[in-house]
Amino acid sequence: METYAYYADGRWLEPAGGEYFTSENPYTGKTWAQIPRCNDRDVEIAVQAAYRACHEGPWARMHPAERGTMVRRLGDAVALHADRLADIETRDNGKRRVDIHPGLSSWLIDSFYYYAGMADKLEGSVIPTGRDEILNYTRHEPYGVVAAITAWNSPLLIAIWKLAPALAAGNAVILKPSEFASASTLELMKAFEDADLPSGVINTITGFGAEVGEPLVTHDRVRKVSFTGSVKGGASVAGLAARSVKSVTMELGGKSPQLVFDDARLEDSVHGVCGGIFPPAGQSCIAGSRLLLQAGIYDAFVGKLIEVAQRARLGDPNDPATNIGPIANKIHFERVLGHIERARKSGATLACGGNAVNPGGAGGWFIEPTIFTNVAPDSALAREEIFGPVLAVMRFETEDEAVQIANDTDFGLAAGIWTEDHRRALNLANRLEAGTVYLNNYFDACTQSPVGGYKQSGYGRENGWEGMRDFVQTKSVWLSTARRIEAPF
Ligand code: NDP
Repeated sequence: METYAYYADGRWLEPAGGEYFTSENPYTGKTWAQIPRCNDRDVEIAVQAAYRACHEGPWARMHPAERGTMVRRLGDAVALHADRLADIETRDNGKRRVDIHPGLSSWLIDSFYYYAGMADKLEGSVIPTGRDEILNYTRHEPYGVVAAITAWNSPLLIAIWKLAPALAAGNAVILKPSEFASASTLELMKAFEDADLPSGVINTITGFGAEVGEPLVTHDRVRKVSFTGSVKGGASVAGLAARSVKSVTMELGGKSPQLVFDDARLEDSVHGVCGGIFPPAGQSCIAGSRLLLQAGIYDAFVGKLIEVAQRARLGDPNDPATNIGPIANKIHFERVLGHIERARKSGATLACGGNAVNPGGAGGWFIEPTIFTNVAPDSALAREEIFGPVLAVMRFETEDEAVQIANDTDFGLAAGIWTEDHRRALNLANRLEAGTVYLNNYFDACTQSPVGGYKQSGYGRENGWEGMRDFVQTKSVWLSTARRIEAPF
């Protein structure tokens, strides 16, 4: 059994209350690690350390190019420790190992390299005021202490999307990973020790939302909150942050539609739709969990879809031959099964899957790829985020009807369109209410391109220049060269 400490002020610390909680391996269901159950006293240590780092320490006075060099070293550290990080994340949340390394790791490294290069390019501008005796210019300055609260489905990726731009902009960061998957973020802190950043610049405190997240979000010295999680959690955190008017970024859930038209290439679109939900067992914020099929292609598409979904091999997430790993934790596993049970009773047709399974007898939390057809657009199955391997299939006749069903949701994270008519694809891309729209593909992303939500899927953006802008505040400076200032009265 591994027992972790938490990381603050450049040190590994025991939780103030002396308590720990356990982490289970989703493939076996067995406990493998003890994680510090921090409380508000630990929050205080981390916040004061971060505050000192970005107001008094060398980080505050460092040349931006040197800060960029340090951020780049964090990328080097991820590269050096990619194997270990992948092992731990797979053990902790059941993500397929190949999806982390080599899958995600080059992306994680690139995030640091990309934002490292931006550290000394945060240029302000001189504003044309129209007055010769006045100079007005802008500066982009860090907020100071940033709280970065992350979800359990992809802890490393989500943490690094926040860390890289926040640090490059000159902030200090306190990470608060989910209680369900904290270990890989703590391992990341171990990897970062090689990069030798000033103490307090990066911290990770672990524990429960109510005991650690809330005191962090409400702390006076925290000036920016970047949150990834559910709409419920986000609304609660945004409310807490609003009490002291903190800047907030929200990356929340989704119920993303995939629209397939009669003229779409059948095989490609079936593969794209299947790949858009099932490989991470539906545990992706942008999972394409609503499938809208045009009437002419409906039957052929559903037949092929079932065939492909049933081919998927569930099993050990460490095995490269595995297609779909487990559900990341037991509570969520039971929640997904509850959704399936309610959907069965709702009148939708269960076309395939729907069962918990136990591949290899390992004892973990697996659910078959599940497809419901004839789903009513106003049913819970079509409207609630399940965050599991459950696809809700609906039928449409016209483009306008497809847009109406696609946009009839509280969410707005992503959408996919499958058609060979590129004029139609581009027109529909403008009409769909989503932060990301995929045309004849799904799941593509890169460090340079912004991601984020419309509607209740959140606000603010991660990645790209917009991801950097989320971690700076702009100051406007006015200088007068007038020989004298007129008396006001
Ligand atoms: P939750 O909202 O339950 O939790 C997210 C994080 O917030 C956790 O660290 C949690 O801590 C913490 N938290 C919860 N309540 C509070 C609170 N009141 N104050 C402070 N912190 C709090 O989400 P999940 O972890 O279940 O993540 C799954 C969700 O994340 C899905 O809806 C998914 O769509 C979304 N997501 C969005 C992404 C995006 O980029 N848009 C990317 C990935 C996931 P604890 O767990 O300890 O309670």
